[in-house]
Amino acid sequence: MLLVKNGRVIDPATETDAPRDVLLDGDKIAEVALPGRIAEDHSTEIFDATGLIVAPGFIDLHAHLREPGQESSETIETGTRSAARGGFTAVCSMPNTKPVNDNASVTRFILDRAKTAAGVRVWPIGAASVGSKGEAIAEIAAMKEAGIVAVSDDGKPIATAKLIRQVMEYCRSLDLPVIEHSEDVSLAAGAVMREGVTSSRLGLRGMPAAAESVCVARDVQLTELTGARLHVAHLSAKASLEQVRWAKQRGLPVTCEATPHHFTLIDEDVQYDSRFKMNPPLAAREDREALITGLADGSVDAIATDHAPHEPALKDVEFDKAPFGILGFETALALALEQLVHSGRLSLMRMVELFTTGPARILGIERKIAPHEPADLTIFSTTHEWTYNVNQSPSKSRNSPFDARTFKGAPIATIVAGRILYKM
Ligand SMILES: [Zn+2]
Repeated sequence: MLLVKNGRVIDPATETDAPRDVLLDGDKIAEVALPGRIAEDHSTEIFDATGLIVAPGFIDLHAHLREPGQESSETIETGTRSAARGGFTAVCSMPNTKPVNDNASVTRFILDRAKTAAGVRVWPIGAASVGSKGEAIAEIAAMKEAGIVAVSDDGKPIATAKLIRQVMEYCRSLDLPVIEHSEDVSLAAGAVMREGVTSSRLGLRGMPAAAESVCVARDVQLTELTGARLHVAHLSAKASLEQVRWAKQRGLPVTCEATPHHFTLIDEDVQYDSRFKMNPPLAAREDREALITGLADGSVDAIATDHAPHEPALKDVEFDKAPFGILGFETALALALEQLVHSGRLSLMRMVELFTTGPARILGIERKIAPHEPADLTIFSTTHEWTYNVNQSPSKSRNSPFDARTFKGAPIATIVAGRILYKM
């Protein structure tokens, strides 16, 4: 038994924002009550959450754990330790591993590794096409049987309208969301950042915002045709968000996520420093503004990190040559607090929703602090001051533009299935 005492429970699913004690019994929540009302005996372990927020376990819809195949950048073990530090109790792992997770045996391998790492829950995402090559559809039904929670060819878009139509029809019958890395590759070819005044000034090849939004438009149309659930990954452009809004107004099952780097940084922050290189690239100031508005008004459904570790040997090269992607787990909550809550743009309740109920709904599950529910909790402070030092990260990689940034607010403890996996 673990009793989390005197915390402020914020749970969007039950619309609770009040002091509560939460008793965990094994891997389930046993009781939720007013402070001091739960009987404790000598065998009850106590976690004092005075002054802290107690939220349902955070879920990250978008992470690259790099195993199998790229273990010099990350493993399931190091990645999930980093996730636990970031307050995440579950992470969805993208299929662009080596080999690609396009069949049930790779899915099972990932789940086995996650079990021995014995930490944060890992929910694999299966590839939409064989090898994510955009030609033949992958063995989606067999992967679902093995445990995938969604499909995606992330890293790139599902190659053609014909293929994504087929994937959507399949996923609709299997009740799986299709997660799309929205990019028109002909518009994005050769680009290393967003096209605009800054890319001209730096002399770097840029991709226009439309490289993202024309793909979103295509996929929204195909959602209407097939009835499948479309989830737009790492949405970065205002024009894409307008497509998603239009789809939602029509009642189409379209959702989207935004990353902390896209709602924090802009293209002007790019200064030939490869830690600022990701795909989609950092966008314009007005795109960032639109994202924050969308996070507040419900047009954006979830915050996802797109945690994308690359070992220093790969990433510490010229901007043009460096791979896309940055670390994400350990700074996500602090950036959300800084950009969204402390700035007065979002309530704490709404921010918690974007890390918990929002992503859960996209996966078709529930997350709440109530009896019989999984004992997954994220406990955090909104006031703790700290400085991020990427060299102390359990991740194998160091590619963060937020190294040495000072924050107000941090994850304090991460509890999965009743076990404290991380405690500050
Ligand atoms: Zn992507």
